[in-house]
Amino acid sequence: MPFNLSLSEREAAGLKRSLPVIERVGGRQLWANGKGYLNFAGNDYLGLSQAPELIKAADMAAREFGVGAVASPLVVGHQAVHRTLESELADWLGLEAVMLFSSGFSANQALIKALLSKEHILWQDKLNHASLQEAGLLSPARMQRFAHNDMAALAARLKPQSGLIVSEGVFSMDGDQGDWQGLSELAEQSGNWLMIDDAHGLGVLGQQGRGTLSEQGVAPTKVRIHMGTFGKALGVSGAFIGGSQALIDYLHNHARSYVYSTHLPPPQAAAILAAVRLVQTADDKRELLQQRIAQFRQGAAQLPFSLMPSCTAIQPLVIGDEQLTLQLADRLRERGCWVGAIRPPTVPKGSARLRITLSAAHSQADIAALLSALQESVKSEA
Ligand SMILES: *Cc1c(COP(=O)(O)O)cnc(C)c1O
Repeated sequence: MPFNLSLSEREAAGLKRSLPVIERVGGRQLWANGKGYLNFAGNDYLGLSQAPELIKAADMAAREFGVGAVASPLVVGHQAVHRTLESELADWLGLEAVMLFSSGFSANQALIKALLSKEHILWQDKLNHASLQEAGLLSPARMQRFAHNDMAALAARLKPQSGLIVSEGVFSMDGDQGDWQGLSELAEQSGNWLMIDDAHGLGVLGQQGRGTLSEQGVAPTKVRIHMGTFGKALGVSGAFIGGSQALIDYLHNHARSYVYSTHLPPPQAAAILAAVRLVQTADDKRELLQQRIAQFRQGAAQLPFSLMPSCTAIQPLVIGDEQLTLQLADRLRERGCWVGAIRPPTVPKGSARLRITLSAAHSQADIAALLSALQESVKSEA
């Protein structure tokens, strides 16, 4: 049977993606094709990927423990450094227990696969991340998607004691926040479990950077399952799932991408541990980030594209047309600013956008440079 590898349809629609090769990248800058750019496309919101504390921790762990975990966690891969990281994470976030995963994508897949069976319903916000949507499609559970952040729509359809409600802390392509007061009330009233994917809130929002729930004043105990990633504001890579000890014990036995996958390398766990310690006292970086966001939003209000209702580091400009989005991204690159052009199917049809992300590592002058590059690029494409 032949496989169809044709990309011509995607190409004709201006939706074919290609893989750039980046020579070096940090929160503020990147280098590609021998040139330097300001980086407005990453998720290193606090600039921790280049922090000396993290680099030193990884370096020391590599010397002491080597660069590989050698085995999956249940065999001999789960080491003291992993356990320390788990317990400090749990303390920081007010959770009974946590476990580590190599990626947020695999954590979401493993959780949904392990927990839900065909008697269950998975209630998902329409704008949830691809890892959650796909896990839902692969799961034997029925999936019901509700209109983005629409608590009335969810309440109208939600069946009591039917399964799991999943939403995000900060939505990755829009930058707005889930309604966690609303979600936790609906979960409680209907006797359903609730899960937060806080990939983009962790480290940036809330007291000591605890994330979206802390920002919104929702107790961690109101949400049964917590998921967060280390590849965004924490500047490394990997993810965790947290909740009750019973949940974590269950997942140690049933989460297949945990059981059958090599554990995180010790230098990675050590770097994440350094990030978890650093981020709790990083109010100065969070404050800087807020200043850059305010500066950007004020300047971008002059542009002919609407800003999203986002007060986070994710500041998309919705252009709509896919070709124009690509052209604007090219024009920005010519002016030294690297911005992600995000097109369907990552975002809904007709909502192609420049996904601009800001970091505490950016200077005021960097934001000013982005704003003038945007003005000039828009003029040249008009
Ligand atoms: C990035 C992201 C993930 C995936 O995390 P990785 O560690 O990069 O695999 C999951 N959910 C959301 C909302 C994300 O933004």
